[in-house]
Amino acid sequence: MSYRSPLEARLAKTVTKAITDFSLIEDGDRVMVGLSGGKDSWALLQILDVLRQRAPISFSLVAVNVDSGYEDYRHDLIAAACKERGWECRIVHTSIGEVMDDLLETDDTPCSLCARLRRGVLYRLADEVGATKIALGHHADDFVETLLLNLFFAGALKAMPARLVSDSGAHVVIRPLVHVSEEEARQYAKESRLPIIGCCCPACGDFGLQRQRVKRLLMDLEREHPGVKQSMLRALGNVAPRHLLDRRLNPPRDLEAAAAHALARRDPDDVRRESQRLQLLRR
Ligand code: SF4
Repeated sequence: MSYRSPLEARLAKTVTKAITDFSLIEDGDRVMVGLSGGKDSWALLQILDVLRQRAPISFSLVAVNVDSGYEDYRHDLIAAACKERGWECRIVHTSIGEVMDDLLETDDTPCSLCARLRRGVLYRLADEVGATKIALGHHADDFVETLLLNLFFAGALKAMPARLVSDSGAHVVIRPLVHVSEEEARQYAKESRLPIIGCCCPACGDFGLQRQRVKRLLMDLEREHPGVKQSMLRALGNVAPRHLLDRRLNPPRDLEAAAAHALARRDPDDVRRESQRLQLLRR
């Protein structure tokens, strides 16, 4: 079976690499795909379906759409596209949009609260559909944007895990598009003729949001220095903990032990000469 396009072949390769590198999908998995109807989640569902048909392991897919209850949200188009392709799909209607205003704290961004509320619904649905993994459509751009958001506004050096076990241990969230760029996801959803649906949320496209600012910053940097985003993504897999200031990674005792170890490995004559020099200086 050949791929429909060079882009699909490339995505199949990069997504397979992510699946293998981070053990995202295993034999017998039932993967629930969070399907918002945006380009990223469509691209994810489409490429996972392509891989499912070729993989040496057996796994199944079920798409789940969480409707936040915004007027004009075209969940009917999502249902129709899935039906046409024979994809199992479940749409859940919620009032997340309505409760957002009541719950929004001053230090919350709408998107982070929205993501938390949706996450709760997804966990419940995963149990209902018997999913062993929950796949989300975060792509490489999301990873580097989140890294900068945490760095600039949250005082933390972290992005997102490609595979996350929930605090309760009951759910495993996976992000198979970790190596796929936003532009590739957009192109792939488009060439796959999937109906890209806006979320109809008032915060959508708000350029005052910190994430949008970071997006613009990265866009400018990438224009000036092509490859910046790729370098940032590589950095997430190439961490030098000893060059950071987190005492949990570098407990002082370890530093002392390392210093003692380094000293022990030095030439005894050097150590003796240095101690003589120090004694002379102290006189
Ligand atoms: S733009 Fe709206 S729907 Fe999308 S994540 Fe943010 S708050 Fe939620």
